[in-house]
Amino acid sequence: MAKREREAVAPRGTPIDHSLIVDGFGEMDGRTIYEAYVTNCGRCGREFTFTPEAQKYVHEVRGVPIKMGRRGAAYCPNCANETAADNKARRELVKRMHIAEESAAACRERPDDFGLLLRHAINRVRLQEIEPSPKAAERIVGDLRRVQRTAPKSKAVEALYWEARLYDILGDDARATDRYATFVASPGQRTKKLVLEARKALKRLSR
Ligand SMILES: [Zn+2]
Repeated sequence: MAKREREAVAPRGTPIDHSLIVDGFGEMDGRTIYEAYVTNCGRCGREFTFTPEAQKYVHEVRGVPIKMGRRGAAYCPNCANETAADNKARRELVKRMHIAEESAAACRERPDDFGLLLRHAINRVRLQEIEPSPKAAERIVGDLRRVQRTAPKSKAVEALYWEARLYDILGDDARATDRYATFVASPGQRTKKLVLEARKALKRLSR
């Protein structure tokens, strides 16, 4: 009996939280659950079924007005995934830019510190992973070579690895292979993790 009462109160399906939606046209007035409908994706234009769960997310979590569901705010599952991936990449880019700005400031304060110079170069390589730019890469290579020429052995060897990685990102397979191989073959202190990464990269590049 009590169970049946609860079922009558709680509707089946995906409930609408009227306190969270923006519904100027009153399209949801008198409704308790979201209903699937067919609409066109706001990104690729293809027709798809906008599911109740997706509607709840778009209208209640993202705060998109109800009327926009049929006016381009709804994305098909494919485009929704791609958009989420793009947003994640953008957040990661901003994070890495911030880290690179901090290491740039540290380098300006202590221009002769090879450790800082290497750290800053690595931070910029990590930026290149998301947004490659050959022009910026040239300057990074310059800094990495400076470390290789003048820093103590362990730092110099590590800089070689990052030079290889940078060429790898830029798609210069010949130079990347050459630097990775030299890194793996060079004596001196190398971290196991970087040697492992270099071996993996060499295997991939030889295919
Ligand atoms: Zn789409």
